[in-house]
Amino acid sequence: MAAKYQDYYRILGIERGADETEVKRAFRRLAREYHPDANKGNKLLEAKFKDLNEAYEVLSDPEKRARYDSLQHDTFRNFTNVRESMRANAEGAAAAARAQAAHEEKAADATGSGFSEFFDSLFGSKRAAFNRQKKTQQRGDDRQVPVEIQLGEAFTGTRKTISAEREETCVACGGFGQQANAPCKVCRGQGTVSHRRQLEVKIPAGVRTGSRVRIAGEGNPGRHGGDVGDLYLNVTVKGHAYFEPQENGDILLELPLTPPEAALGIDVQVPTLSGRVMMKIPAGTQSNQLFRLRGRGLPRIKEKGNADQLVKVRITVPQTLTLEERDLYLQLGRMQRDNPRRSLI
Ligand SMILES: [Zn+2]
Repeated sequence: MAAKYQDYYRILGIERGADETEVKRAFRRLAREYHPDANKGNKLLEAKFKDLNEAYEVLSDPEKRARYDSLQHDTFRNFTNVRESMRANAEGAAAAARAQAAHEEKAADATGSGFSEFFDSLFGSKRAAFNRQKKTQQRGDDRQVPVEIQLGEAFTGTRKTISAEREETCVACGGFGQQANAPCKVCRGQGTVSHRRQLEVKIPAGVRTGSRVRIAGEGNPGRHGGDVGDLYLNVTVKGHAYFEPQENGDILLELPLTPPEAALGIDVQVPTLSGRVMMKIPAGTQSNQLFRLRGRGLPRIKEKGNADQLVKVRITVPQTLTLEERDLYLQLGRMQRDNPRRSLI
């Protein structure tokens, strides 16, 4: 989109060499003349007033004025000067001013500075600059790394050293992908290079299989000043010989008992993730009966404290018997009056 060249000196009706006082005086005089309050509904004067303000904004600011002055008029020779046509024909001038005003209104809507596109292209408007940046800025990709841990590590939390490929900004070309107007040889024009890197990561207590641990800022670098992505550790908790973690963080343990232990009751040592504990098995305990050891499971994720350990009884019967045992079982069998199948008959 071509911005129309704005001749600020002509708008103010002053020479290029005019000093600060002359700029101010010219502005004040014309501002009174063009002011919208004095010219309600006159679109041409409204547009002129807008131009006047823009001209004053630039020429009264030494920095902006120097920048404007440094422009060669012929840099903008492809831009039509609306004011030339305004002079030539009063009718045309009104139409041109209306067009210009409409055009600038549109431009102001789009960029937010309220001044002409020419002004924005020269000095930039904040929103235009933001949009430009937003368009080119690209957040770096997130990285996913699988991590396998032991159940005990899930219980206590752990640190792991992971080694994974990561994109890093190419040092040779500074991430631009170009060197001496040719694609960078180091990164083949990509701006990033793959780099295997070791990283120590902290895995919090209570993670489960399927948990994702986010390590902020360890993903791939962004492009054109975009944010760096994040690293996600996809956790798998390895299976355990006898602890069976449940979805809610409870830990299931199957506890084998002999028939006499189940019938008579026993104080038995039971392993937990935090060490052995003594557990009282009452007389007459049945197979599949569940006992709960409170707070002996995995740390809870959203609440405080720990889940529980569930102890499920399994009564085991010896597969081989000594003669003496066999004799005792026979005696026991003869003595037993309770029929366990009475509900089935
Ligand atoms: Zn490079």
